[in-house]
Amino acid sequence: MTELSSLASQPPFDVVIVGGGPSGSSCAYWLANAGWSVCLIEKKSFPREKTCGDGLTPRSVRQLADMGLETAVAAHGHKYHGLRAFGFGASLEMQWPEHSNFPNYGYTITRFNLDGLVAEHARAAGATVLTGTEALELLEPTNETDGALRGAAGVIVKDKTTGESSPIRARYVLVGDGQNSRIGRTLGAQRNREWPMGMALRGYYRSERHDEPWIDSHLDIRDPKGDVVPGYGWIFPLGDGRVNVGVGLLSTDRAWKGVNTTKLQDYFVAQVGDEWGLNEETSCGAPTGGRLPMGLAIGPRRGPNTLLIGDAAGTVNPFNGEGISYGYETGRLAAAAVGAALADNDPSQLRLYDETMESAYGDYYKVARAFVRIISEPEILAVCVGAGLRVKPLMRELLLIMANLMHNDRQGPAELGYRALVKLADALPERAFDILTRESDN
Ligand SMILES: Cc1cc2nc3c(=O)[nH]c(=O)nc-3n(C[C@H](O)[C@H](O)[C@H](O)COP(=O)(O)OP(=O)(O)OC[C@H]3O[C@@H](n4cnc5c(N)ncnc54)[C@H](O)[C@@H]3O)c2cc1C
Repeated sequence: MTELSSLASQPPFDVVIVGGGPSGSSCAYWLANAGWSVCLIEKKSFPREKTCGDGLTPRSVRQLADMGLETAVAAHGHKYHGLRAFGFGASLEMQWPEHSNFPNYGYTITRFNLDGLVAEHARAAGATVLTGTEALELLEPTNETDGALRGAAGVIVKDKTTGESSPIRARYVLVGDGQNSRIGRTLGAQRNREWPMGMALRGYYRSERHDEPWIDSHLDIRDPKGDVVPGYGWIFPLGDGRVNVGVGLLSTDRAWKGVNTTKLQDYFVAQVGDEWGLNEETSCGAPTGGRLPMGLAIGPRRGPNTLLIGDAAGTVNPFNGEGISYGYETGRLAAAAVGAALADNDPSQLRLYDETMESAYGDYYKVARAFVRIISEPEILAVCVGAGLRVKPLMRELLLIMANLMHNDRQGPAELGYRALVKLADALPERAFDILTRESDN
């Protein structure tokens, strides 16, 4: 009997999780660690490539450390100490801040090396991890209802090597299947298209500067004529002889629809190529791209026994395009809610997930969505970046907001400024930011 067919004849798992990225694997780890029976389904086999900037901020490091994985990450990754921002003729080095909840450093590590570590850790904690196994569809889905996901008795999966299909039954079905989220959409999730979304592309290059202790962010990209084009660029040293070079763009950028990200990457590589030794000879292959569903733009994220986590729930931070930490965090929050539901034998406890998501991210993402709408205006961006990068204390405070590293117990400019922005975002409807920034179109 194969592993799949033997699983099909077993009693239902407590939880089945679709997707072995940051959100699914952390969720599987926390649930298995709490003693629940968990099955994690991942269609690829680790190690596997995943298009990403490969940057871990202090928020991600905190989650990895909590799972007991920091030593393993340090062994495969490259430690860095802060961000260097460049734009409109100015530049600034900013060390990650001292913080009571987060370390003052980050790592870069390829997703090729990172994602398998977390999935294996979940397995070691007791989860059943099926790799090379794709979730094809929901098992016995309930009907659609307004404002909630559908429920399901599990998922039907297919072993990609043998072609064998089998049902996996579970009391709870969690979906962390990433930016495209086919299974999430089958559950009834939809993206709010009025809200910002990101699109990004990255490639690897060999570079002598591969072990610098900073990650670089460029807030202006210029075409061969020297004109600013919509988008931003990054260079993240990987410490293994390579750097990760990429570009990103927001759907709120006016020219979003006409932009070809491959061309944008070419412009960016031409812009920084000499300094970093980036050219056709040092390129490790054609760049690959993906989408960044952000700002909690996807919902509903809860059903009678179902939850969405990570990119499937649109949890990327619009301020900085960071999604790994939010994958780990939302996987952990979902594990806590499902754990409470299992312990009390009460599925209504899943509402804890919505409540904690709202209190952890609701206000912050509202401000972030407004911020990206405003800075998507090229004139506003040029003035803010050009002036801001010349005032280090101001930028340091902004970094705390943008990386979501504010202190609960501090009343510094970042915290006070942020609270003022929350009040402003509360007072104005979401579309007001569009109206404010689009007036110049007339
Ligand atoms: C170009 C680019 C650069 C980025 N750079 C950064 C960065 O530097 N730092 C950062 O923090 N974030 C970055 N992000 C965002 C980050 O990659 C995501 O937010 C993060 O991977 C989300 O984790 P996840 O677990 O929700 O989804 P994913 O990491 O996408 O994992 C989903 C998993 O589900 C599997 N899967 C999908 N469908 C099925 C199915 N039907 N059955 C079984 N398995 C399935 C997939 O194979 C995948 O392994 C970047 C994104 C892009 C596109």
